[in-house]
Amino acid sequence: MQQKADAVEEKCPHCHHELCDKKRRVVRRVQSYCGKVKLSRTHGWCPQCQQWVFPADLALGLREGSSANTYLWAVANELHGTGTPQAR
Ligand SMILES: [Zn+2]
Repeated sequence: MQQKADAVEEKCPHCHHELCDKKRRVVRRVQSYCGKVKLSRTHGWCPQCQQWVFPADLALGLREGSSANTYLWAVANELHGTGTPQAR
């Protein structure tokens, strides 16, 4: 999980603009499919969207606030290998 977070591009997940004022290794405890894990990932400011973003959160399917959209959820589920309920 941490590896995935590290592998995420440090770009805005909404507009793909390069992030500025990046802060690496912002730690968060998350409830994952394999239990509670401590995850650190990059936090950055998107000058285009005028908001702070955690690209890794979206890539991993962690929802904070309201930003993750359905497409990203689907991608995250695929990454996790959990599949979708409909697949059964
Ligand atoms: Zn943006």
